[in-house]
Formats: sequence, C-alpha cells, structure tokens
Amino acid sequence: MADIKILRSRLGIIVTFLVILTVFSSASAFLVSKNKKNLTHLYNEEVKLFAKLSTRAIVQSYELYFDSGFLKFEETTNEILDQNKSIKKVEIIDTEGKVLYSSDKKTDGTTLPAKDMDTIRSLSPSYVLSSTNRIETIISPYVEDWGAHKYSARYFISEDVLDKELRLYRNEVFLSSALLFFASVFPLVFINHLKDIQVRKTDSERLQKLNKQKDDFMTLVAHNLRTPISIMKGYTNLAEEQTLKGIEKEYIEAIKDGADRLNEATETILSVTSLLSGESIRKEKVNITKITEETLNSSSVKIKEKKLKIDFNKENVVEATGSMKYLRKAIECYVDNAIKFNRERGSIEIIIQKSNKSINFKVKDTGIGIKEEDIAEIFSSFHRSVENTLDYDYAGLGMGLYLTKTIIEAHKGTVWVESEYGKGSTFGFRLPVNG
Ligand code: ADP
Repeated sequence: MADIKILRSRLGIIVTFLVILTVFSSASAFLVSKNKKNLTHLYNEEVKLFAKLSTRAIVQSYELYFDSGFLKFEETTNEILDQNKSIKKVEIIDTEGKVLYSSDKKTDGTTLPAKDMDTIRSLSPSYVLSSTNRIETIISPYVEDWGAHKYSARYFISEDVLDKELRLYRNEVFLSSALLFFASVFPLVFINHLKDIQVRKTDSERLQKLNKQKDDFMTLVAHNLRTPISIMKGYTNLAEEQTLKGIEKEYIEAIKDGADRLNEATETILSVTSLLSGESIRKEKVNITKITEETLNSSSVKIKEKKLKIDFNKENVVEATGSMKYLRKAIECYVDNAIKFNRERGSIEIIIQKSNKSINFKVKDTGIGIKEEDIAEIFSSFHRSVENTLDYDYAGLGMGLYLTKTIIEAHKGTVWVESEYGKGSTFGFRLPVNG
C-alpha cells in the first residue's frame, strides 16, 4: 500500500521534474536565440561606428606619412585598429579600386573587381553581410572637407569576438537556468521525501495495529478452543478405557488424534503471541544435548518407519541458559521437520557446538529440500510449500518454524537455513552463551 502511494508520488515528481526541465531548457533556448540577434545587431552597430570614426584618421595619416614616414603611418594605423579587436584588416583604396595599402600587406597593389566600382565611388558607406547577418566587410568613403572623394577604407571584420561573446552568453544562460532548475527542484524532492516518510509511518502504524489485532484475535480463538479441546480429550480418554473394538476404536483414535493436533496448534499460537507480546524468558540451565536425545527417542517410531540413519553424538554435552520449555519446542520443530521431509533411508546429522560466545545447533537432512524462492519466507507464519503439502501427507499448521524463530529471537539468538532443492536442508540456530 505504502509502496503504491510512494510509487505514485515518485511518478508525480518525475513528471514535474520533466516539465520543469522542459520549461527551463525552452526558456534558455529562447533567450539565447533572441539575444543572439540583439548581440549581432549591437556588434554590427559597433563596427559601423568604429569604421565611420576611424576612416578619417587612417586616411589622413596615409596622406601625411605614407610616402615620407611609412613607419609613423603604420604605427598610427595599428594604434587605431587596436581600439577594436573585431577589425582584422584595413585597406586604403582609391576611386579606381586599387588597393594602395593593406594592413596585412597581402593585397597591396591589387584592384577591386568592376562590380565593386559603384560602391567604391559612392559617398556613403556600404556593408557586406554574412548569412548570419553579421557584417563581414565595410567600405567607408573618406570625403575631404571641401567635398572631394579620393579614398575609401575597407575594413575586414573577424567573427571571433562576437562568437566568443555569444558563447559566453550562452554558457551564462545555461548555467543560471541549471542553478534555477536545481533551486526549484530541490524543495520539491525534499517535500516529496517528507511525504514518503509520512506515508511509510502511517502505513507502518496501520500494519502494527493490524498485526496487534490479528495477534489478539488468535489469542482469543486459541483460548476459547482450550476448553472444548480438553473436553474432547477427556471423553476420548474415557472412551479408550472402555474395551472398544474395530471401527469404534478407530473412530475414537481419530478423534483423539484430531484433538491432539488442535491442542498442539492452540498451544503454539498462545506461545507465539505471548512471546511476541514480551513474555520474559526464564533463565535456567538447559541441557541441549539431552533435549535432543529425548526428542529423537520420542520420534523413534517415525525414524524406524522411514529407516533413517541418525548421526548424533550424545556424549558431547552442551548447556545453554534459557527456557527449557521453549528451547525444547525449537529443537523438536527442527528434528520433526528433518524426519517429516526426509526420504526413506535418508539420514539426519545433528551437530551441537559451543564456543566462547555462542552455542550453535544444526540439523542436516537428506530430504526434499526447499526451493530458492521459498527460503526467504520459510520462517514466516503459516508458510507451507504447496508442493510439499501435496506430496507429503502430514499434519502441520506452518507455525513450527515461526514459533522456533520467535523462541530463538526471544533468547537473543538467530535462526538460519541452507537448502538445496531435491537434496536436503540444514536448519540451525545460534544462541549467545550468556543469553
Ligand atoms: P509445518 O511443518 O507445520 O508445515 P513448519 O513451520 O515447521 O510448519 O514448516 C513450514 C514449511 O517449511 C513446511 O511446510 C515445509 O514446506 C518447509 N520445511 C520445514 N522444514 C523443512 C525441511 N527440513 N525440509 C524441507 N522443507 C521443510
């Protein structure tokens, strides 16, 4: 339930995230393209103005110094050109289209093609634009004070400066929108996270409440079953004392067997609910080896029926501290299952070890094993593998392992299982020595 709500809110946040991302990237792209036009326009105006203002100075310097003091002329021209980094070259051209001087010395003495003659003779400036509307060249006429027009200056504009500015601008826009994007998404993620925590909290509270209701219900049912079960047991015991024969004896035995099973189930339920609600565990000395031996002895009929080989060293006495009643139940569960789910002529190995810190108990069988997907759930309540239940005709509630886990955990220990499907299983528990 919580997961669906959280998944839904995660989906919501992803969609919002995508919407914000789209809005920010379109806004940035729009800003960049709009300002590209503005910046290009400004840049064009700047070089136009520069050409207009510098032509007079360059041409006058040419007239004054070109022949008599070329170095002085070149120095003045370079100083003027240095004022605008976008100008990569300047030429001085006469009205016949002949290039009298070029700042890179490459086009000196060449003549402009006939198609450019009109522009070179015009009294107003002319511009050549690139495909992106940037000015590539400017022809700026030099008109002397008394109206004569003998020279023009032609400026070649480099694209590098504008490109650099555009690049800078684009990076700034994208960086600021990325910052804005994170600034707006962060609170969203944070709020969503808080919501997730709230959903989880509410759901876990609800689950705890439901669990408590379930435990209370089970305790109530189990308690109420105790009296009718003891009545059934009492009467069947009485009936058994009569000399019954044939079918009547069989009926009474079946009823008695049913009552025993019911009794076992109610006692298990009552033990689990009592342990889960914090029953304090007794701290008595428990001889684990002895309990195991007694369990094997009481199962000797089933062991013989199945012709099982038992490998158990009863000389290795290991003692633990805890509740004799409960630890016996845990051991009985492991041993009973190892018998119940074993194959004919299989074997059971029981190993009990004690170290400074812990007591390790394990039961290894050569039975049907457990499927990998069932292992994680095996210790939870009412878990029974459907296949096992169908193949093996046995009585069981699926509460034994759950009770064992509850008992061992109440003793501050841990349970574990290893199994290979079709080959066998090993169930174990570990108890702290000073538990
Ligand atoms: P029950 O035996 O009453 O069904 P348990 O809690 O003891 O309940 O066991 C739960 C399930 O775990 C069993 O039904 C069986 O499918 C599986 N299981 C337990 N012990 C073994 C084992 N030794 N080998 C194979 N399967 C086992």
